[in-house]
Amino acid sequence: MNIKINRQGSIESFDIPFQSTTLLKALFYIKQQEDNSLTFSSNCRSGVCGTCAVRVNGKEVLACSYNYQEGDLVEPLAYHEVQRDLKVNKQKVRETLKNSKAWLQSSQQAEITQEQVELTQKQTDCILCDSCYSSCPVLELNPNFIGPFALTRAYRYTADPREGNIQSIVDTIQTNGIWDCTLCGNCTEVCPQGIDPKMDITMLRGTSSQFGYNDPNFQAMDFGFGGF
Ligand code: SF4
Ligand code: SF4
Repeated sequence: MNIKINRQGSIESFDIPFQSTTLLKALFYIKQQEDNSLTFSSNCRSGVCGTCAVRVNGKEVLACSYNYQEGDLVEPLAYHEVQRDLKVNKQKVRETLKNSKAWLQSSQQAEITQEQVELTQKQTDCILCDSCYSSCPVLELNPNFIGPFALTRAYRYTADPREGNIQSIVDTIQTNGIWDCTLCGNCTEVCPQGIDPKMDITMLRGTSSQFGYNDPNFQAMDFGFGGF
């Protein structure tokens, strides 16, 4: 089997002398047997920590969960600073959690039903692999876009009965936030945890409407009825 790796813009080809297994095992093989300078990130090796996310043929996967195929092109996550080969710096992207105020703003006493817990259980499963962020086409045009996982987390807190200041979160995600999303669904497609950021953003739009916000793109549209 042969795979290709994008190393700082240079595509290098490697032969793996065994049938398809996980991409992470292939990367370790290359590092141990062919080129010990190959650099990538991994930790739990069982799909739990999200550290080993990369792009294969343009689509985000966890290297420890993906079985490589002949001719695969492996690249680092998009919109991240590449430190070396497949290793990226996730620090700057973590800032989006601050930018979306994705935590309890003002804690209040509230009874929480099992149903309410289940409503945001999925969002709580985010492992911060950044796959959704890398897949989002909006970041190509607007690097300040808050991005999917931080908006998913913002939704998680707006739907939490213990949040006493939903308005604060809603106000924060209006600029470079929910209205910039094109609802393309890429983020939902690549999430290894089955989280649906597209739906969460849709829900945040509904909540924002309740606080008096509207889609600014819609308001700015000229429907050609001006003279009538
Ligand atoms: S649905 Fe929205 S947040 Fe998700 S990838 Fe598409 S544009 Fe980005
Ligand atoms: S929402 Fe899914 S794809 Fe995005 S960072 Fe969390 S686990 Fe990864």
